[in-house]
Amino acid sequence: MRDGDEWVVSGQKVWTSGAADSEWGILLARTDPDQPKHKGITYFLVDMSSAGFDIHPLKQMTGSEHFSEVFLDGVRIPAANVLGDVGEGWACAITTLSNERGLIAGGNKSSDIGVLIELARKRGRSEDPVLRQAMVDCWIRQQIQRYHGFRLQTALSKGVPPGPETSVMKLFAAEYLRLLGNASLALLGPEATLLSPDAPAGQDWQQRFLYAPAIRIAGGSNEVQRNIIAERVLGLPRERQADREIAFRDLPRGGS
Ligand SMILES: Cc1cc2nc3c(=O)[nH]c(=O)nc-3n(C[C@H](O)[C@H](O)[C@H](O)COP(=O)(O)OP(=O)(O)OC[C@H]3O[C@@H](n4cnc5c(N)ncnc54)[C@H](O)[C@@H]3O)c2cc1C
Repeated sequence: MRDGDEWVVSGQKVWTSGAADSEWGILLARTDPDQPKHKGITYFLVDMSSAGFDIHPLKQMTGSEHFSEVFLDGVRIPAANVLGDVGEGWACAITTLSNERGLIAGGNKSSDIGVLIELARKRGRSEDPVLRQAMVDCWIRQQIQRYHGFRLQTALSKGVPPGPETSVMKLFAAEYLRLLGNASLALLGPEATLLSPDAPAGQDWQQRFLYAPAIRIAGGSNEVQRNIIAERVLGLPRERQADREIAFRDLPRGGS
């Protein structure tokens, strides 16, 4: 709620990447419950050292603590920290998400099929027909992904903001990383079950395999990317949304 020159925010958000280490955060908060769900949301830039934050890191199956559950209890945010107009945060959020999807898709430089092919050669497995087929599939996907990246970089260099094409890139990257993880474990064989820096096969490929499912969810799940591609790239009819015009306060939800 608004209080003079400040907004006072209480609530909870799970899966906030980097929350435990960040100085600034993006906060989307409902400021008008009488609007339907995509309206009445305001986009705040929030100082993470503000009083009222309680941050609980969450451990993933990789062992890392990439994201946190964040609780806000009366956090005060200057009104000047609103990005865009009050109640119109969803439009800014779409731009943020498009950028995030491009970053997720382009930010996996260490997951290089070339390194796996080299490992297959060293282990005398590069002529294995089944493994070879899986690695070639990954190699082709990595090349296509590179060209998607070039196209996005060219658009950005001309000042064109990223749009739904980053959903294509993110979906493509998620599939690539899934297949790469599978191929790497097939190559390592039983050694893949030993996960430690001093294990015979180390742990890098196993870590990538374990992290791949997160890429299918972060920044919007694969299914949601497919919907965006269908509706905003291919121009197919929108999926039915019975709650699209209902005020947020009237939506059925837990505890109501
Ligand atoms: C590594 C990682 C980092 C993250 N970082 C952040 C972060 O920094 N900030 C943040 O706010 N969130 C973050 N998230 C959360 C992430 O954005 C959400 O988990 C994701 O968007 C899915 O939303 P959800 O969890 O509410 O699942 P839901 O939307 O409830 O989805 C559940 C299932 O239903 C399917 N589904 C949902 N809607 C549809 C539909 N319309 N059509 C077909 N299928 C559908 C989904 O594909 C999924 O399988 C992160 C998640 C991960 C894994």
